[in-house]
Order: sequence, then C-alpha cells, then structure tokens
Amino acid sequence: MTETAQKPIKASEMDPKFKYEISKMHGGEKLMRCFQCGTCTSDCPVARFSETYRPRQIIRMTQLGLKNRVLDSDTLWLCAACFTCTDRCPQDVEVASVIRVLRNLAAEQGHIPQVFKEQASSILESGYAYKIPELRMKKRETQGLPPLPKGNSESVCKSLRGISFLKHVEKKVE
Ligand code: SF4
Ligand code: SF4
Repeated sequence: MTETAQKPIKASEMDPKFKYEISKMHGGEKLMRCFQCGTCTSDCPVARFSETYRPRQIIRMTQLGLKNRVLDSDTLWLCAACFTCTDRCPQDVEVASVIRVLRNLAAEQGHIPQVFKEQASSILESGYAYKIPELRMKKRETQGLPPLPKGNSESVCKSLRGISFLKHVEKKVE
C-alpha cells in the first residue's frame, strides 16, 4: 500500500472493533471470510500496474483493525471498481464493496485525495468533472460543432445535499 503500510505494526494501532464495524455495513458483511489466498490481487488490473496497490493487503489490514493506516492511504482510491476481485474470490468476499465502504469512511473523515476534491468541486460548479478551457470551446465553434450543453450543477448540489462528502469540497465553491 503506502510507506506507512510497510512500517512495523504496533499493537496500539489495532482497533479490534473495526472489522465488526465494516462487517455490519452493506457490502462488508463477508470481510471475515477472507483467508488471504491472494486471488484478488493477482487478478486485479490496477495491481498489475502498481507496485503499491494490493486489495488482499487492504482486506487483511481491515481484518487486523489497522483503521488509520487503511483510511489514510491514498492507494485506497486507486481501485477502478471493476469488480474482478469480487467475481473471482473463492470465499465470496465482496472485495470491491469493502473498498467502497472504506472509501466512504475515509471521505467522512476528510481523507479524500486532492484530485477527487477538485473533480467534485468542478462538478458542483459547472456540472462537468473537468473545467473545459475556453480555447477548446472556441475551437468547437471554428469546427462547426454545437456548444456543449450546460451542466445542471444546481440539481447535482440538491442530490448531494446531506452527503458528508459534500462538506469537504463545498467550501471551495461557496
Ligand atoms: S480472493 Fe478473497 S479470499 Fe482470496 S485474498 Fe482476496 S478477498 Fe481474500
Ligand atoms: S474492483 Fe478494484 S480491487 Fe477489485 S479488481 Fe477491480 S480495481 Fe482491483
């Protein structure tokens, strides 16, 4: 995972209740079935191209209660949610869903990589995930392409109201 994942583990870091907390959440119910076979990591398309992203390791750290290490880790956000791991797990662990649950918890605590905060701000401001440069808009015109439809950021804001993720990005758009 990250450098912190490689540091020696201290007993004081382990939260024995964490695995039960995750197991109670939708998608996390089968966490404790994992017997660390490694199939999820060997079949994960992201792990193939990353030296640090290992779903098997995320599952084990969660079982061990290494809550802060897991939730603080940027690599948690590398998952592409392709569900290959979930489909191939011999123990029926919903690996991709466990990662979603962990990300939601991380987001609630404000641990969101800057790149996602910026994307979310852009969606809230314009309805688009990326700010489209004026120059590109003009180029569309010169090539006879119609203007892009306006994003409905008001509707997006309305749908997201009450979600704690929003409070971590909305300061930027006020
Ligand atoms: S494939 Fe399933 S049992 Fe094997 S390590 Fe991954 S989560 Fe655990
Ligand atoms: S859902 Fe995430 S962890 Fe699972 S195989 Fe796809 S990228 Fe890897």
